[in-house]
Amino acid sequence: MFKFMVYFIAISILLIHCLPFENNTEDYDRGGADLSYLGRSVFGEPNEESGNRVEQWNKSSKVNPEELGTYAEGDILFPNDVRRSGVISETKRWPGGVVPFEINGTYSEEQREMIKKAMMEFHKQTCIRFRKRKPGDSDWIWITNAKTGCYTSIGRLGGLQTVNLQAPACLLHGTVMHELLHAIGFGHEQSRSDRDLYVTINWANIKQGHLQNFEKAGKLLSTSFGVSYDYGSIMHYSSHAFSVNGHPTIAAIRDTNLQLGQEEGFSKNDVEKIRRIYNCSNISTKQNSSEIDIDIK
Ligand SMILES: [Zn+2]
Repeated sequence: MFKFMVYFIAISILLIHCLPFENNTEDYDRGGADLSYLGRSVFGEPNEESGNRVEQWNKSSKVNPEELGTYAEGDILFPNDVRRSGVISETKRWPGGVVPFEINGTYSEEQREMIKKAMMEFHKQTCIRFRKRKPGDSDWIWITNAKTGCYTSIGRLGGLQTVNLQAPACLLHGTVMHELLHAIGFGHEQSRSDRDLYVTINWANIKQGHLQNFEKAGKLLSTSFGVSYDYGSIMHYSSHAFSVNGHPTIAAIRDTNLQLGQEEGFSKNDVEKIRRIYNCSNISTKQNSSEIDIDIK
């Protein structure tokens, strides 16, 4: 009888320690953005046409390089082999806010510094931690330099997840941050379900075949996380995104001259949203920023 009691207690302790871990893991499989409004347009293959457009980009262009791709909303691409579920109605977060990465692309020293600088911004202001992939990591981002533009999937895809940063155009500070924000689970700000209260879409100015890039999400909570609409978000389109005639395609209702699509860095609301999605107040941030090591050959 005594032996039985000991076994019972030992098994109970084991269960108590294991169950919360499992729940936590499942928890990170939910709670991201709802992309169902994009339907199947998010699936596809990288293409050179996007690469050619990005190659033409220069600093006097009126749009951001990530707005040039033929992908959903310019820079959202999920590989065809995750198509099983038909549409993506919920994206996944990274457990503990830790995002393992590998850099596969051929980049100059200066371009690697740009990637590092963008990652450092996350470390300084949020609980997100990028670190080099270790042998046990099953999910990771794979930063590449193919001539296929700037793009990634939204949220943790599972397994290898491409973040393509075509050099040199996609190596802008703001563009690297923008793509990394997609990878951790952010959609575009102007796709929020409540955006019509804040911006006007000038449909007549949008290039043929790109109208779908201005659709909006159905559920507010999946896109706002309780943070108010933000014209200054690094995830906002620029005023001339996908313009056919050089006139703005999107403008703030309260001030049509307000700058949209800034590429300098996080807005206050971007930081707040990351903290809420990743529950930063409960995540330990013991890892030091100096742990970033991107000197990978
Ligand atoms: Zn984007």
